[in-house]
Amino acid sequence: MIVVMKADATDEEINRVIETIEHLNYRPHVSRGVERCIIGAIGDERQKSRLQSLEALPGVESVVPILKPYKLASKQVKDSPSRYQINGVEVGGKKIVVVAGPCSVESRDQILETARAVKKAGASMLRGGAFKPRTSPYSFQGLGEEGLKLLKEAKDETGLAIQTEVMTPEDVDLVVKYADVIQIGARNVQNFKLLRRVGETNTPVCLKRGLSTTIEELLMAAEYILSEGNQQVILCERGIRTFETATRNTLDLNAVPVLKEETHLPVYVDPSHGTGHWRYVTAMAQAAVAAGADGLLIEVHPRPHEAFSDGAQSLKFDNFETLMQRIALVAEAVGRSV
Ligand code: PEP
Ligand code: MN
Repeated sequence: MIVVMKADATDEEINRVIETIEHLNYRPHVSRGVERCIIGAIGDERQKSRLQSLEALPGVESVVPILKPYKLASKQVKDSPSRYQINGVEVGGKKIVVVAGPCSVESRDQILETARAVKKAGASMLRGGAFKPRTSPYSFQGLGEEGLKLLKEAKDETGLAIQTEVMTPEDVDLVVKYADVIQIGARNVQNFKLLRRVGETNTPVCLKRGLSTTIEELLMAAEYILSEGNQQVILCERGIRTFETATRNTLDLNAVPVLKEETHLPVYVDPSHGTGHWRYVTAMAQAAVAAGADGLLIEVHPRPHEAFSDGAQSLKFDNFETLMQRIALVAEAVGRSV
């Protein structure tokens, strides 16, 4: 349910509504807009008739049901776009956030070399996996904590914030010690225990769409994180599985305007996993910016042919520089910047 307060409702009246919601064993979620305050009451749907009586309290204009299955993620609860400040970078603002780096952290030289190059080309954050979800148990699984330490070293030198994946609830405490943004990979988008666990932290989360999750399921996954208290969620379209085999996945850019209509959460696009081939990455990065993406995840490697994972879709440094120049043109055309 959403309690819409009158435009002239006092703080006292707002607090009384909050207390009453808590008293009814719901969780209040307050969103103060420019015009008025709206308060979401989150909890067991079966009891909602009890909330309807809030209409009798002073300062309340109306009590309306939340029609979408996702609530905290929906624009009904918060209609202005969410913006987060992460290590001096604004996510969800005018500037397109480019998170670039290798698929996996492989060595000290590799990550430092890449961090310097992507920083020079204008990236805002560094990505790199230390815990890798691989299709085969025989493939490189990541350097673990050693990889996280190397990311930290790259951050200390370049100032770039770090985005890195966590795969299990048990690793969350370790990963949040190093990460500025925790990545939940496509394969874990419906790992509900993991979602709840990262929801208990204060570290922003980049939640990737699964290979076969619908947009609604992605939003419900975000809801798991939000409902635990962590409000800093970024959604990421990274391609879905279709009958098409010319590309690794089918980058569903439809998701960008759909999500923009449905949610206040920032939306990233990952054209590296979305296409699977470095030659298509720049074109789809430009398209993503044109479609309204707030950020991009781009895989970059000093020597893609030597990469332990995802070399075929990784850009060399010079191609990444070209990508940055091309997306700057598109960004300007749609009133954004890079
Ligand atoms: C990655 O970002 O390297 C990755 C494993 O992505 P996804 O979870 O989207 O496959
Ligand atoms: Mn990858």
